[in-house]
Amino acid sequence: MITANAKAVHGADQPFTSTEIERRDLKAQDVLIEIKYAGICHSDIHSARGEWGPVQYPFVPGHEIAGIVSQVGPEVTKYAVGDRVGVGCMVDSCGKCAHCHDGEEQYCEEGMTGTYGSVDRYGQYTQGGYATHIVVTQDFVVRIPDALELDAAAPLLCAGITTYSPLRHWGAAPGKKIAVVGLGGLGHMAVKLAHAMGAEVTVLSQSLKKKEDGLKLGASHYYATSDEETFKTLANSFDLIINTVSAKIDINAYLSLLAVDGTLVNVGAPSEPLPVQVFSLIPKRRSFAGSSIGGIRETQEMLDFCAEHGIKPEIEVISADRIDEAWERVMASDVKYRFVIDISTL
Ligand code: NAP
Ligand code: ZN
Ligand code: ZN
Repeated sequence: MITANAKAVHGADQPFTSTEIERRDLKAQDVLIEIKYAGICHSDIHSARGEWGPVQYPFVPGHEIAGIVSQVGPEVTKYAVGDRVGVGCMVDSCGKCAHCHDGEEQYCEEGMTGTYGSVDRYGQYTQGGYATHIVVTQDFVVRIPDALELDAAAPLLCAGITTYSPLRHWGAAPGKKIAVVGLGGLGHMAVKLAHAMGAEVTVLSQSLKKKEDGLKLGASHYYATSDEETFKTLANSFDLIINTVSAKIDINAYLSLLAVDGTLVNVGAPSEPLPVQVFSLIPKRRSFAGSSIGGIRETQEMLDFCAEHGIKPEIEVISADRIDEAWERVMASDVKYRFVIDISTL
């Protein structure tokens, strides 16, 4: 076993403490990664607090991992010691089903193995990236292009791919009007990526407090959802809406903003249901959809796209003793726009 230092919570309402965790000894195809940076995703908070179901404590979150390969198993062909690499929300899948074959491992019929909170194929409970090291099979590791700094690359491994994938799937391109609901970690990446794909982007935020930022990130328009006029002004206007909000919102109000054949994709994952009135959909043949992260191949494509287009997240790098404070700020929508933990401080 390989011992890593980590930050863990020991209960839903407990603060972080330092701990040691065990990583498996390298199998033939495994890569040992020395983690340099780990992003803080709102999913870490939902998960650790048991909002999505029971979890096992101690619990080490973190699925936006950027680091350096420090050891490889004997059959590893894709990576060498010293390579700059990333790991996102999954670390394994069956590798045999149609979805795995299509490079959409997140939809694996046997279920993907989550980077944390899963039991892996060797029976070990997985622990995430708020840690000094992780062992991952080479097929679930991606290469971080030289043009991307490791700290800025980390959030791309979840916030980046989770917004890139639905934008590609639903055809973000010139001529498309796209709204992004919620300007947080995912939301600000959705704005940058949709803009880079040539779409006309509108931000729908709770207030106008971040308007100047939103326009700089690439949005052409910015509206406050606390203003009822917004819903009248923008009725029937969008081809695609990406909802990144982590809490329950009145989804029917947002569906009313879709044009004929428009789609609202929920990537935000609140634990409460979002009740849909069918008459929000029927009269304009609208769709309400969900999307889960993105496959490994698409994650590499997204990283390369970001490197090529000079896209990187807006980050605030923090030391490991400030994770609790950062989580409180994420909960209060007070993040510009992703916290990234400097693992060297752990
Ligand atoms: P985040 O940084 O906290 O951003 C969420 C944003 O939603 C906030 O910045 C805020 O934007 C808005 N918001 C928060 N509470 C709200 C409320 N009560 N009413 C209206 N708007 C509210 O979170 P994140 O890391 O981007 O994650 C967003 C969601 O996506 C989470 O639920 C997370 O679990 C989920 N997620 C899903 C996937 C997937 O595969 N589908 C992957 C990653 C994350 P404004 O201040 O601009 O209003
Ligand atoms: Zn995430
Ligand atoms: Zn599979």
